[in-house]
Amino acid sequence: MDKIIFATGNEHKMAEIKMILKDVGMQVLSQREAGIKADVVEDGSTFEENALIKAEEIAKIARENPEFREAVILADDSGLEIDYLNKEPGIYSARYMGEDTSYEIKNRALLDRLAGVPDEKRTARFVCAIAAAFPDGTSRIVRGTMEGIIGHEIAGKNGFGYDPIFFLPEYGCTSAELSPEKKNELSHRGEGLRKMRGIIRELESGKR
Ligand code: IMP
Repeated sequence: MDKIIFATGNEHKMAEIKMILKDVGMQVLSQREAGIKADVVEDGSTFEENALIKAEEIAKIARENPEFREAVILADDSGLEIDYLNKEPGIYSARYMGEDTSYEIKNRALLDRLAGVPDEKRTARFVCAIAAAFPDGTSRIVRGTMEGIIGHEIAGKNGFGYDPIFFLPEYGCTSAELSPEKKNELSHRGEGLRKMRGIIRELESGKR
């Protein structure tokens, strides 16, 4: 295994991913940097299924290029689960109210749906499943989570998506108010990537 290709077109996610995987000793490329164009239909019913569908689909395309025969293909599927809304938007987080609707509007709509709901019923979590398709045809899936509550207003400019309404009571701020380093330390994607980094390291050391 010599390279990691991460199957995402989301530049924000890619920046987080590169920061966390920088010390695995392998080149980390985005799907775009690897020159892979594909729009994978995420038709699974869980975060795990969708991550695996993406990783395997992109791996199939990547392996056609001799340069990527020994690459690990990683893909994630992530989203926000709000307990009061029966875990909505969940696996539909990106598509909630339409892909082209701004997060300003989506976040306001979620705050409206929770108007008057007390803090103890505003519990929510970000979930991230990460799947790896290895060169020998095997695959692994891990999950990371970050627990919090839905705040009462939009706050913060860092991060992306639902970060401005995701309030972390222990830190007294939203995940959009954390520094990128702190968010990586606490986030669902950070936890998932560290688990996957451990699996890749184990496989690599087993070969020596
Ligand atoms: P995916 O690209 O299919 O995994 O969709 C993930 C969607 O979940 C994003 O478009 C965001 O709406 C939301 N999401 C996932 N992770 C985060 C995060 O770290 N902060 C804010 N929103 C997130």
